[in-house]
Amino acid sequence: MTMTMPMTMPMPMPMSQKEKDAAQKISRVAYERAGEKAVERGGEKAGEQGGERASERGGEKIGEQGGLEVWEGTLARTVNLAGCGVHSGKDVHVVLHPRAAGTGIVLRRGDLANGQREIPLRYEHVEQRRLCTKVVNNAGSAVSMVEHLMCALAMAQIDNLLVELDADELPILDGSAEPWLAAILEAGVVRQQKPRSYLQVCKPVEAREDDRYCRLLPLEAGGHVLPTTTMPVLSVDFLIEFPHPTIGRQRLLVAASSPAAWREEIASARTFAFQKEIEQLREQNFALGGSLDNAVLVGEEGIVNPEGLRYKDEFVRHKILDLCGDLYLAGMPILAHIEGCKSGHRLNNRLLHSLFRDAEAWREVFLTEGATWSEQGDFAAAP
Ligand SMILES: [Zn+2]
Repeated sequence: MTMTMPMTMPMPMPMSQKEKDAAQKISRVAYERAGEKAVERGGEKAGEQGGERASERGGEKIGEQGGLEVWEGTLARTVNLAGCGVHSGKDVHVVLHPRAAGTGIVLRRGDLANGQREIPLRYEHVEQRRLCTKVVNNAGSAVSMVEHLMCALAMAQIDNLLVELDADELPILDGSAEPWLAAILEAGVVRQQKPRSYLQVCKPVEAREDDRYCRLLPLEAGGHVLPTTTMPVLSVDFLIEFPHPTIGRQRLLVAASSPAAWREEIASARTFAFQKEIEQLREQNFALGGSLDNAVLVGEEGIVNPEGLRYKDEFVRHKILDLCGDLYLAGMPILAHIEGCKSGHRLNNRLLHSLFRDAEAWREVFLTEGATWSEQGDFAAAP
């Protein structure tokens, strides 16, 4: 087993004075608005969990009109989940705990000794593997299958969370991100007092292996438009090709303008496996917990699952789900158009390494509220 190399954190690109002024003004206005909302809704959450004052939205559906959030978010309360690890076949218990603003998303292995049990859910800690995304800390403690939870957290726009579990693998649940997201939304998401950082892609970045690639492109030429809450929450063009008639070539373009649309398009797409490969995987101690309840099984004659597919092109949608989860390990949401061609976990992670190696490829920004994205032309000029 190889360990990930410890990497020094790249510094965000410095903002110009003009950008700083604009960001400060925006933050103030947005902060005041968030405060008003909290007052309108009773503001009963003020002061809890490290000083949230924004709205408590337990039980609401995921933002239908809303686009990107201006403020960091965490859970309104603790959430318990249990399920089976798809590779180990063991039962896993998970507790999702709210966490203070600015503290990020961290795993805690409750079954390990203090000092070795915390693992940041960040791309530098990813051990590059083909079958799933696995994070490892400096003490060698690891957790795998983090990508579906990460996708749900990206959709719910959660920035701070402690994920406590008693095994080295997150439960597979139904093989998609939907059960994670449903549990999170049922508990509710609170907005916190810290403005949410976004990573704006300023020039194309690519990771490639032969004919497989994934790349990030600026949403606007040069990537210097001051981003707003109305930017797409997901803009992706993805192609897969498998030499099996049930899958073949599938290409999907998703441009989701709201978290609700993102959920609708992607969240329920399940992971999949080929019947032919299952025996081989099991000999290597993988997929021991895999079943028709948590994966689409593709046999010689077609789909084995009696209920069939959830989407006609569920396979490419699941690949997008994995990509969304893997990219959320950047530590902040990425504002970019994403193109993928037969990309998987390993390339997705290599893309983040390439991105953070190039200080000109990105900058850290905050969002403006209100104006539509296309009305922001005034800000488009200066790099
Ligand atoms: Zn997956």
